[in-house]
Amino acid sequence: MNGCSDNPAYQNVLLHSLYYDNPLAIAVIDRFGRFLDINRDPYDMFGYSREELAGQPFSDLLDELSYDMTMQVFERTLAGEKCSQEIRVLHKDGHPLDLNIDTVPLMRRKKTIGIVVFFQDISERKRTMEKIRFMAYFDDMTGLPNRRYFTERLEDKLAGADKRDGQLAVCYLGVDQFKLVNASYGKDIGDMLLMMIAERLTGFFPETGNLARMEGDEFAGLLEDVRDQEDLSGRMDELMRLFEKPFELAGVHLHISVSVGISITQGAGDDAIGLLKKADTALHRVKENGKNDYLLFSSDIAHTALHKLTLQHEIKKALQNQEFLLYYQPQYDLASGRIVGVEALVRWKHPERGLVPPGEFIPAAEESGLIVPLGEWVLQEACRQNKSWQDAGMTPIPVSVNLSFRQFAQRNLIGKIADILQKTKLDPRYLELEITESITMDVERASRFLQELADLGVGISIDDFGTGYSSFHYLRNFPIGSLKIDRSFVRDIQQDPSDAAIVSAIIAMAHNLQLQVIAEGVETEEQVKFLRHHRCDEMQGYFGSPPLPRERMKELLLSESVLPMNH
Ligand code: C2E
Ligand code: MG
Ligand code: MG
Repeated sequence: MNGCSDNPAYQNVLLHSLYYDNPLAIAVIDRFGRFLDINRDPYDMFGYSREELAGQPFSDLLDELSYDMTMQVFERTLAGEKCSQEIRVLHKDGHPLDLNIDTVPLMRRKKTIGIVVFFQDISERKRTMEKIRFMAYFDDMTGLPNRRYFTERLEDKLAGADKRDGQLAVCYLGVDQFKLVNASYGKDIGDMLLMMIAERLTGFFPETGNLARMEGDEFAGLLEDVRDQEDLSGRMDELMRLFEKPFELAGVHLHISVSVGISITQGAGDDAIGLLKKADTALHRVKENGKNDYLLFSSDIAHTALHKLTLQHEIKKALQNQEFLLYYQPQYDLASGRIVGVEALVRWKHPERGLVPPGEFIPAAEESGLIVPLGEWVLQEACRQNKSWQDAGMTPIPVSVNLSFRQFAQRNLIGKIADILQKTKLDPRYLELEITESITMDVERASRFLQELADLGVGISIDDFGTGYSSFHYLRNFPIGSLKIDRSFVRDIQQDPSDAAIVSAIIAMAHNLQLQVIAEGVETEEQVKFLRHHRCDEMQGYFGSPPLPRERMKELLLSESVLPMNH
């Protein structure tokens, strides 16, 4: 090329433009690191005026952590190298600026007389990167590390485990009844509770990264240097004590407990995912056992967990293969001795194990959600059967069907019940649903659901009354027809005066509230006498009849037999 580029005047103009109009900030500093010049008003970037900067050492601007690094860069540049480095300087008002600097030696007659520094402000980019990192590794509600962070950190700790004295313990924590808090008080209160729990737990696992929010209402904590089981129990007792004090939320005091599953390092073969899984399995066991406790993982637990998984798989298959059937247990009027109702009780006709009682599969069906299709089948079959007895000319009586908590939580349950009644053509007054006291904890939902049921014309009774969470409020305000006194109270009315007192009190109270009372699990004539004496309305139990298959039930109904009673 020739022409203008050789022209000194042109070169001057070009240089001037390159220096003063450059989008990058360019500073010239001398061999001693002092500012000689800068291509723009430094006030915009650093808060200092040109006059303030002139002659100042560049190092005065540096953040402490960038000092050594920057000095090395300057030395290398003075020795002839071009360098690039991320550094942090402080603005005059104190806030940090992240800069990328490129340096080149400033030469004159083959001698280095200073350094040209090109600055690029990367604070914004840094902030975005930080934010991305935060989103990837932290939970934005509680500000705690998330599962990924916790797992990676646990891997790191495990890698350095041989350098440590004690063992590591991974705690998997679940908040008990959290869904109920959300359902009863709303999601905002639920979130607030989680934040308060996170705060309490942070006090227990103070080191950053030793506590994480895994998901929803689940947290994980890492205990280090665990000496032995006793040390572990001591620390866990302390953790459980954190929840003795109630949480105050929007003026309400809530007692919240947690369940904790723990796994502990064994030595070589430990890995983070495995330890977390074991702790999670132990947590599940605590929840099944009634919550508010902690438990250390053992292979025994893993075995039952596996058994449960197989069971859930089997239940699914059994539903497809129609292996379920219903037994019916009569309910007797205590005054007349006549059968006035039947309860439908599900059985599983297992191809190898024979007839399986509900206690062995209902909990697994509830946990897996399979109770929803199973419960629907039970409802449909019970209604169909009752209608067919009526069509065969038997005196119409209601059939009672048990409703589990999980079914109650599903949407449009009322719609499904109405559908089944319509399909089977059973008059709604011949269907009764047995609910447990637990569903009344979510008062608003329960009250809506029960009212809709009552509007349909379906009866409602409270099963296993006295064993759950009882509130007189719902007895008075919900459209409930009867209470079924749990058989644990009935069993000992002859031997235990306090059980006798409880039973007679329940009967009196129920009658005051215009509710019917059914005693469950009645096995002896003495119990019948006691119940009649206290004017209990109905009874159900082996004394009358055990649950029967449908053909036997039909015979019993046809025989019009009455309860054997000596008057
Ligand atoms: P539950 O609703 O309280 O049913 C009464 C249970 O007591 C039945 O046990 C019945 O066989 C038993 N029983 C009846 N009379 C006596 C007696 O005199 N003495 C003794 N010791 N026991 C008596 P089962 O059939 O094993 O049912 C157990 C529980 O399983 C039921 O308790 C109910 O909660 C649940 N369940 C049964 N069928 C269903 C169902 O279709 N759906 C749902 N969700 N749960 C069901
Ligand atoms: Mg029942
Ligand atoms: Mg019961």
